[in-house]
Parts: sequence; C-alpha cells; structure tokens
Amino acid sequence: MERIYILAILLFSCILACFVSSDIYAQPNLDRISISERSDGKGFVIRNHLTATPDSFKITQPAADLIQFIIYSSELTSDNFIEPSLPSSIRNIEYHKNDTGFGYDIFFDENEYFRASAYHDRNALDILIGLERSTKEVVDRNIDSSDFIYWYDYNQDSLAYDFRFSSDDDAFIQMRNNNGFNVIVLDPGHGGHDPGAINRSLGIREKDIALAVALKVGEYINQYMPDVEVVYTRKDDRFVELARRGKIASEANGDLFISIHANSARNTQAHGAEIYFLGLARTAAALEVMKRENSVIDLENGGGPMQLSEEELLIYELANAGNLAISERIAMMMEDQFRNRAQRRSRGVKQAGFMVLWNLPMPALLVELGFITNPNEARYMASEYGQTILASAIFRAIRDFKQEYDRSLRQTSNRVSND
Ligand SMILES: [Zn+2]
Repeated sequence: MERIYILAILLFSCILACFVSSDIYAQPNLDRISISERSDGKGFVIRNHLTATPDSFKITQPAADLIQFIIYSSELTSDNFIEPSLPSSIRNIEYHKNDTGFGYDIFFDENEYFRASAYHDRNALDILIGLERSTKEVVDRNIDSSDFIYWYDYNQDSLAYDFRFSSDDDAFIQMRNNNGFNVIVLDPGHGGHDPGAINRSLGIREKDIALAVALKVGEYINQYMPDVEVVYTRKDDRFVELARRGKIASEANGDLFISIHANSARNTQAHGAEIYFLGLARTAAALEVMKRENSVIDLENGGGPMQLSEEELLIYELANAGNLAISERIAMMMEDQFRNRAQRRSRGVKQAGFMVLWNLPMPALLVELGFITNPNEARYMASEYGQTILASAIFRAIRDFKQEYDRSLRQTSNRVSND
C-alpha cells in the first residue's frame, strides 16, 4: 500500500516536472495561422497557433489598407507553418522574420476598412487578432504612419556617408547666412495635361504618384516638425511650368527644394529609387532620365526643347558649391533611408542637368521614387502603403538633416559665446 503511494507521488512529480520544464524551456513555435469569420459578420478573428507563450507582441496600423503584427521572440520558430486561406476582404498577407521576432503585413482590398486589436487567448497559448469592420473616416483618424514595423534590421554604422557639419564648413556658413533650415518646398512633378510617365496597362500615372507622395511628405513635416513651413508648387492636378516652380520656391525663400517623380524604362524589370542633384550627367542612364524629365519644356508655351550645356553646368557647379554640397549630403541621407529603412532598391545618388533644379538659390533634389514601367513597383507606388513608406523615407531624411543642422548651429553659437 505504501509502495503504491510512493509510486503515485513519483509519477505525479514527474508529470509536474515535465509540464513545468516544457512550459519554460520549450522553444515557441508558430504551427499555423487560421482566419475565421466572426459569427456576427462584423469581421474576422486571426488565430496564431503557438506552442509556448512569446515575450510580447504588437499590432500597428500605419496605413488605411495595412495592419502589421509582430510577435517579439527571438527564439520563435516558424518553419513549416501553415498559411491560412484568405477571406475576400484580405488581399494579401506577407510573412516576415527578423532578429526580434516573426510577424506579418495584412493588406486589405480596396474599400475594405478594419480596426485591429491583439490579445492572448485566455485558455491557450495562442494570440488572437480581432479585425473589426470599420469606416474609412474612423481608420484614417486612427492610422499612425510613423509607427511602421521595419522587418529588416539596419545597422547605424553602415551609413554610406559621414555627415558632420563643421562650423567653418563653406556649405554650413552659406546656409546659416540664409537664416536656417525652415522652409521646405515640395514639387510634385508634372500635372494637368502633362501626366509624366504612364503605365497604360495598369492605368497608373506619374503625376498622381508624385502628388500623393508630396502631400504625405508635407503632412509628416507639419505633424512632426511644426516649426518648419511647407510650400507646394502644386497641391492638385494642374500643369505648372518649370520656371513657375522655381519662382514659387525662390519667392518662398525655400531652404530646400525637392522635386518628386517616378521613373520609366524600356526594361520592365528595372526597379529602384534614384536621387539626383544638379550637375553634369556622368552616365548615359542619368542623361536619359534628365532628357525625359526636361522634355516637359516641349509642352510649355513658346518653349522649345532645351538642355543645359556642359559649360553652363560647370559654371553653375563653381558658383553654387555650397548649395550643391548640402544637396549631396541630403541626397545621401535620403538614399540611406530608401536603402536601409524603406527597403527599396536604391540605384544611388546621381547628378544630371534637370531644368527644374536650375538656378534655384537653395539646395535642390530630384527624387525618382521607382519605375512605373515595372508592374510590381507601379502597384507599390500607387498603393497607400507604398506611398506612406516612400513619403516617410523622404521625410526622415529631411528631419535627420535638420537635426544635424540645428546641432551644428548650437555648437557654433556655444563656441562664439565662449570666445
Ligand atoms: Zn517626372
């Protein structure tokens, strides 16, 4: 009798030990994800089937058609997990794994609006995501575009530039004499009867992408840098002559001019962003982009085809060394954003003789967001998600530059007051 009692205790402690150790030491694994429609028809529940409780999780809605979810657990495995079949309201789910965990982007169909919440299933280890049908107005009010989850880690040390203003730097002195970095001019390329590059089979036009991204950049500046003024060369679908764009920028006393465009190429595989500042085109490809963007002059009244001559550009480079140095620096910061934060292929910082950048008394850039002739990239640039990421990359470069600028200004004034 006593022996049975001891055996029972042994068995019980073994079960207890096994149970405890499996809970503590088991590596969490995501076996599968399932999606079921709520019985009241008001949305969906996504169940993440886990074998152990992860550290934590987060859900964000950075764009109206995108919800992002991440399970933070560097240990989490997800090999061979089973993907759910998608209900009609969900366009796509993209799965990602990085050093901090595993998660996914949920893209919704057009005119489908959801709000999301995530919570632990009380009876199990699973994490549930509730997707509740909502309206565009409510979703727009609640999106937080700054709250992206970047799926790829970037290394601060890998920056392609070493950006420091020194107080006796020519470019810095020139800018300081211009009274700071407070007015940003955003120039959405093309507009009105000039659609820019077109993807006819998808019905996507450069002028619409340029305007949408420029307006978003402006919103971010207004929201996160309230002391900076934003000036647009156009805020709607209208034609604005190149000379008029420059005049708007000069009259506003702009401290930076950013012209926003989308690229095109005969090769439909070509993709990636390019950032230009004014100068002599050094490659045939840069020359092609320049010719295409300058061809808008043909559309203007009384304007014939016109290109800047090599001599004009050389003289310009000599006379505007300060602004060009700043343009190049901001271009490098922007390319870092595109490459490392927005996960776009960056084709680099380049120079060419763009008419729209000519004779501006301020640093000036022209951004080709991506190729409208590449179907994937065209769809990305036309989506709210893509536009939000592209705009946030441009915004972050402006913000980073302003921070460096303000810091160097403080260092100089400290030094002056110490003398
Ligand atoms: Zn263009």
